[in-house]
Amino acid sequence: MEKAVHRSECRCFVPNLEDGEPAETFVLLEGDKQALSFLGNLILKHLETDVCNLSLSPLGAGSSHFSTDSNVGIYLHRVPCEHGSITVPSE
Ligand SMILES: [Zn+2]
Repeated sequence: MEKAVHRSECRCFVPNLEDGEPAETFVLLEGDKQALSFLGNLILKHLETDVCNLSLSPLGAGSSHFSTDSNVGIYLHRVPCEHGSITVPSE
């Protein structure tokens, strides 16, 4: 019997807003119970390691956990660490 694959969809999106509401960008993590449990457990297990960062990408490592509609990966970074906080350039 083939094992079921539970994939999460990870996308940045701006929800439909009422007039006058400021536009905000969200990260959508959508999946069934098993897929979201995987992501939750991944974060918890990562905290037990000595490594500060972990990444999964729909195009690279961990791609089997993403739906084909995913357009962003996941980058976890536990601080404090030797690298300091990651600076994200503003658009
Ligand atoms: Zn670090």
